[in-house]
Amino acid sequence: MSPNWTTPAAAALRADGLRVADLDTSATPGFTGDKAAGQQLLAERTVVLSALQEKLYANGRSGDHRNVLLVLQGMDTAGKGGIVRHVIGSVDPQGVDHASFGVPTPEEQRHHYLWRIRKALPRGGQLGVFDRSHYEDVLVVRVHDLVPPAEWEPRYDEINEFERELVAEGTTIVKVAMFVSLDEQKKRLRERLQRPEKYWKFNPSDIDERAFWPQYQAAYQAMLDRTSTERAPWHVIPSDRKWYSRLAVTELLIDALTALDLHWPAAQFDVAEQLKRLETA
Ligand code: AMP
Ligand code: MG
Repeated sequence: MSPNWTTPAAAALRADGLRVADLDTSATPGFTGDKAAGQQLLAERTVVLSALQEKLYANGRSGDHRNVLLVLQGMDTAGKGGIVRHVIGSVDPQGVDHASFGVPTPEEQRHHYLWRIRKALPRGGQLGVFDRSHYEDVLVVRVHDLVPPAEWEPRYDEINEFERELVAEGTTIVKVAMFVSLDEQKKRLRERLQRPEKYWKFNPSDIDERAFWPQYQAAYQAMLDRTSTERAPWHVIPSDRKWYSRLAVTELLIDALTALDLHWPAAQFDVAEQLKRLETA
């Protein structure tokens, strides 16, 4: 661990007992370094992440069914896309299975809310990434009464059961909830409106959603309280500082992959014999 980490990210960011409304979104839990130190370390750690991910992929190609699923949740501008680009972007894309979840299509609407999620699950050896996820079905759905409470209320237990099955089948789930302050969000939305290359990220409804901030905080709180389990805990990432959130998520993924205790797959052939054959081929 770098001397700048006083507490490992996984421990510093555990959601247990955390109050969303009290969170300092500009804090850097467990990390004492500044932005320059954080960026320098990120460059080093993504190399480590990439090497681990290659091993995961290699094992998948050799029949290992295990995989890792990163679940990203957060309000607009929280930095989910930045994690995909700057953290996941550092690994071999062959081994990445990325899915983003927006407003359900008419076809998705006709199915159970987990239908589209199950279809997008990573296969053996893959690093799956969900940019938004099944948790939208207890977040935006709850905030906007898209279905009655009697329908979303049982979903917390159902999601826990769903994730229990996933873990039993060999998925390591890394759940990340990213939080920015209302002010920081305004700054980032303003930037999206001031730079033509960012227009594509802006949706006029993002401004309307700001009026529902307290309701979203309550929905996020319920999500953390009810779906942070031992087997699939939530990590809460203060995300006003992009360099910190990227570094923190990198560390969480490194931890998850390290815990799989991966080794290079053994040769399924006699290496000496193949070397000999090659020389005369
Ligand atoms: P973005 O991530 O900026 O592309 O936006 C995707 C939008 O889809 C967000 O406003 C989400 O709240 C919305 N969304 C995602 N899942 C659902 C869902 N199950 N029901 C309704 N809206 C959703
Ligand atoms: Mg958006």
